[in-house]
Amino acid sequence: MSYSRWSEGDLYAFESAEGYGICMNCPFDRVDNIEDAADFTCDTRLEMIGHIKGHVRAGFDVPDRALAQLREDLKRYGNNY
Ligand SMILES: [Zn+2]
Repeated sequence: MSYSRWSEGDLYAFESAEGYGICMNCPFDRVDNIEDAADFTCDTRLEMIGHIKGHVRAGFDVPDRALAQLREDLKRYGNNY
């Protein structure tokens, strides 16, 4: 399930089928080419919330539904992926 896709904002973050959160080619990993950026991964939804809030604070375009979805999932499924 994705929290944000490239078509919606400046990051592509989702819950992987393998059981962790991923911020794909995280724009915080500053390189010349976004394709070379490293993925950010985490084991808990709170970490992903913190990570995405960092994007918001840094001025990235993040869809409102990203944090709303994460808070909903946190309530429903708990903190661990
Ligand atoms: Zn990121």
